[in-house]
Amino acid sequence: MTDMNARNDAEFAPEPGTGYINGKFVPLSEAAIPLLDWGFNKSDVVYDGIPFHAGLIFRLEDHLERFEESMDKWRLPHPRDRETMADICHDLVARSGLRDGIIYLCATRGIPPSAEIRDPARFTSRLYGWSQRLPQLGVPEDGGLEMIVSKVPRIPQSSVDATAKNFHWGDLIQARLEANDRGAQNAILLGHSGFVAEGVGFNVFAVKDGIIRTPEHDCLKGITRRTVMEIAESLGYACQEDNITAEELLAADELFISSSAGGTFPITSLDGQTIGTGKPGTVTTQLHETYWAWRNSAEFTTQVHYDQWAMSA
Ligand code: PLP
Repeated sequence: MTDMNARNDAEFAPEPGTGYINGKFVPLSEAAIPLLDWGFNKSDVVYDGIPFHAGLIFRLEDHLERFEESMDKWRLPHPRDRETMADICHDLVARSGLRDGIIYLCATRGIPPSAEIRDPARFTSRLYGWSQRLPQLGVPEDGGLEMIVSKVPRIPQSSVDATAKNFHWGDLIQARLEANDRGAQNAILLGHSGFVAEGVGFNVFAVKDGIIRTPEHDCLKGITRRTVMEIAESLGYACQEDNITAEELLAADELFISSSAGGTFPITSLDGQTIGTGKPGTVTTQLHETYWAWRNSAEFTTQVHYDQWAMSA
């Protein structure tokens, strides 16, 4: 019988980048995880995404600290110490030769020690990682995103802790597909309380009368979100974590999103309604420009040395 869907991995376009498979560096196109790893077949995994630009890794220590917190919330023993993880991040970029992109680190529960053992406390956690070009969230010609407020609610915080960066993306993916159906580019989800939670891989900000607000609950505490809040403070804006309704989003002067996979982006339309002037607003633009200044500054970045690797092959 011929399996018409069968495809060799080699047939997929090779993406530039480097993989790290629990101790071994490999080309990204050859990086694979074992099917029996609970990270794959039970989504028992936490991760972090760490952006780099012009050979500078952004807020590496802050990302590694959050990664460790995510592991602790999942009761996953740390598969490597902080210093080794920093070296792995460095090498994932140096070995790839990429100047701009993103590093992912994933800690999984691991593989059952034997078919009889189903107690997750008896597993040995595993570390995976890779570097790749940056997946852009997409900015249309006019510089603003068209979004919807999804009918799919975010997984309740009490079931899956959104502050641990995890791969329980079922709700987010369905919301993204709904955005396609409704002719939009992406989606924002509400929490079960009815207040705005976050988007499909990004945090959300609303600006009204010069005051910047972002959801307090049911969302990942994004490193970009934190950066935006620090920038807002440094520029003298009031910036609050708060309960925000969908109606308040629609009535905002400016809306924007934040994510390591691209920084900040304005939203210029929500549920088919124009936000503010329909163009990226002044506060959003000011925050965006300062964000990129910080991404290039020595204070917040770690230089990649492309000619020397921290770890042996
Ligand atoms: N919310 C979710 C669900 C995410 O997956 C992400 C990033 O992947 C974010 C928010 C933004 O977080 P960060 O700024 O740390 O990239």
